[in-house]
Amino acid sequence: MELTLKQDRHPWQSGEENMEAQKLWLRSFEAMNEALKSSGIRMIQPDRMDDTDDGVMCFYKNIPEEYKSFEDYASEKRYEKDGKKAVVRFADFSAIIEAAWKLVKLEAVMWKEGMFYLGDLRKNIYFHVQTGNLLFLDIYGMKRVTEPLTEKELYQEYRAPELILKKTEEYSEATELWTLAVMLYELFFHSGSPMRGAASMRQTFLDEREEYLWMAEHGVFTMEEDSCVNHPVHGVQDRLIKYWGMYPRELGEAFTKAFTDGKEPEKRMDIRKWQEVLNRLKTDYLSCSCGYKGFAESFQKTANGNYRCPRCGENYYVFECEDSRIYLSSGAKIFRWQIDGEDTENNTVVGMVVENKQKKGLFGIKNMTSLPWTGKNPDGTERQIAPGGGIPLWRGLEICFDGKNIWKIREDRSNG
Ligand SMILES: [Zn+2]
Repeated sequence: MELTLKQDRHPWQSGEENMEAQKLWLRSFEAMNEALKSSGIRMIQPDRMDDTDDGVMCFYKNIPEEYKSFEDYASEKRYEKDGKKAVVRFADFSAIIEAAWKLVKLEAVMWKEGMFYLGDLRKNIYFHVQTGNLLFLDIYGMKRVTEPLTEKELYQEYRAPELILKKTEEYSEATELWTLAVMLYELFFHSGSPMRGAASMRQTFLDEREEYLWMAEHGVFTMEEDSCVNHPVHGVQDRLIKYWGMYPRELGEAFTKAFTDGKEPEKRMDIRKWQEVLNRLKTDYLSCSCGYKGFAESFQKTANGNYRCPRCGENYYVFECEDSRIYLSSGAKIFRWQIDGEDTENNTVVGMVVENKQKKGLFGIKNMTSLPWTGKNPDGTERQIAPGGGIPLWRGLEICFDGKNIWKIREDRSNG
């Protein structure tokens, strides 16, 4: 697929000699490229660039068909495929979570390298339908934090309220966290501004600038509980209403926090908090070996508090540690990020659920790390689980993976 995108010029792209700025920009760009290498995010240089009067036209020749624009996902754009009607939508919820993860990661790396993005990410980011992998096209749309911002860049629905209201004139990590939250909200709920609802729609605005000013000043989060002032409007915001009811409450709570408490810059959801929310969603969304997919809550609950696949009957033990949980079924892998809440990005496999070779139907957890774990049987006896060794999955089983937290299989509650 071929694409053309228009971008604004950097001062150093419009002929003004500013080698130093250009050098700094290139250095930041290369550092970003390096940091993103292994994360399923690619920043793509245009195949050709043409100078025109109002900007630079960038041509991209070979964007793979499986990638669709963020904008088209957001609007659930309809299109024709092999003579049939289709909608731009991720293959499943796992792909949406991966896409969200990559958006968060891109923002984290961008900020770390002293860069920020001025434009609308929805136009310049493409996601893979199945994997959620991300292509970032408009790399020249990134500025160094020290470059000044313009009026045009200011009045956007994803811009932080304190910038729009001119309480500050500088982009900061906090202003970009607001933008990130709006983008994530759009990715999950297809909603546009979080402050658009019945109250904002009752107003008459002369232009978008006025609308964004009003929302920054008086905006109430559309899905804020106990608030009917700015409720979502049927017939206009149907997708928001539908997806808000469909996704786990935890996700809605994170956005409520982001757009109520988060009106104050120092109380925003930061990168780590978003990663924690997304990791929990990742854990809760189960892909059964029979092909059935869904949140654990949509699975059948067994008498002892575990879950069962509604299609094939596969059992899922609930492994808990305080308010964290992992679902263990045959073949399930346990990742470092699942057992160590502070290591949010570590995808190393630490354990796996395997079937006992001698006793069919008996499952155990295999230690895939290089250090021993401590296991505690339901009768209270302790045992070391050497690297490569395993321990059977019994109800009441406890494992300490790292000398810190104790994980326990949910007890049989029906028998007390
Ligand atoms: Zn199943």
